[in-house]
Amino acid sequence: MSEVDLVLGNTEKLETRNYRDFGLSDSARVRVNDIMSVRETAAQFVDSFDGRARAFLQIQNGCDHRCTFCIIPFGRGNSRSVPMGSVVEEAKRLVAKGFSEIVLTGVDLTAFGADLPGRPSLGHLVRKILKLVPELKRLRLSSIDSIEADGELLRAIAEEERLMPHFHISAQSGDDLILKRMKRRHQRKDTIEFCRTVRSLRPEAAFGADIIVGFPTETDTMFANSLSLVDEAELAYLHVFPFSARKGTPAARMPQLDRATVKDRALRLRAKGVAALNHRLGTLVGSEQVLLVEKQGIGRTPCFAPAQFLASAGAGEIVRARVTGARDGKLVSELQAA
Ligand code: SF4
Repeated sequence: MSEVDLVLGNTEKLETRNYRDFGLSDSARVRVNDIMSVRETAAQFVDSFDGRARAFLQIQNGCDHRCTFCIIPFGRGNSRSVPMGSVVEEAKRLVAKGFSEIVLTGVDLTAFGADLPGRPSLGHLVRKILKLVPELKRLRLSSIDSIEADGELLRAIAEEERLMPHFHISAQSGDDLILKRMKRRHQRKDTIEFCRTVRSLRPEAAFGADIIVGFPTETDTMFANSLSLVDEAELAYLHVFPFSARKGTPAARMPQLDRATVKDRALRLRAKGVAALNHRLGTLVGSEQVLLVEKQGIGRTPCFAPAQFLASAGAGEIVRARVTGARDGKLVSELQAA
């Protein structure tokens, strides 16, 4: 395409030198390496900022798994982690810039450390950040593969109050045969067990999950297993994805469901998710919560429930609030004196 000046691969886009000779006639216009040959991840970790409230810190990139529906490893390459010392330095820098909350992100977050010397785990990293960055008020994990959560992560969940009690699980389905066809490494009971264990360590914990509906060969009974997983694991925040085949993946070659069925299942699971969230919010009415203000009039509790309030408080501030009700998927709250 003549209007395209430069094509950079996922690794090349992070290298300054690729922008220096931009537009020079003798420079290559397509610079895309074999992503599978990349063994390290770059040291510029910040994906983005959520207004002034929280910062996202990427600690890992790529994925060694090959789920049958997923194209990500072919764009991002194999799993590689940012060294712990660099993550801690970056966390310090973000706190010095005024961020109260940092969210650790990665393509396969719980794979963190397997490629680093000494093979530290995500739990080790969480502990290290909280120990070496005492000014950091809140640390949060983005989506995790619960089957990869080790004892050190569970200990960190139990003992580190500044690790926020909200866990988003890459569950994908509540049916074992579908999980097998997806080439996931866990079964339905593992998701339920993880939530139960974490809840025994942190009773206030809330759980979310990614769930795909309408995966090839999914029957009504199999879909019903995903619906009932919401109750059994006590999930509150659902991200529902109607299955859509990615070209070149094994799932794209499996027998597909008709779109109307996929859409209908997505609607039903989303409705289940709304009911589950409302139930969860209802249990918080009457409680006192510490909110991270996202913007004027809205903040998040530690377990990620959105809470409205009328008083004045700036983005990034941490405030105390009393929850007086729940409406339209949000808590209603009144700020308390600090
Ligand atoms: S779904 Fe997640 S774990 Fe599976 S291959 Fe894709 S990135 Fe990896």
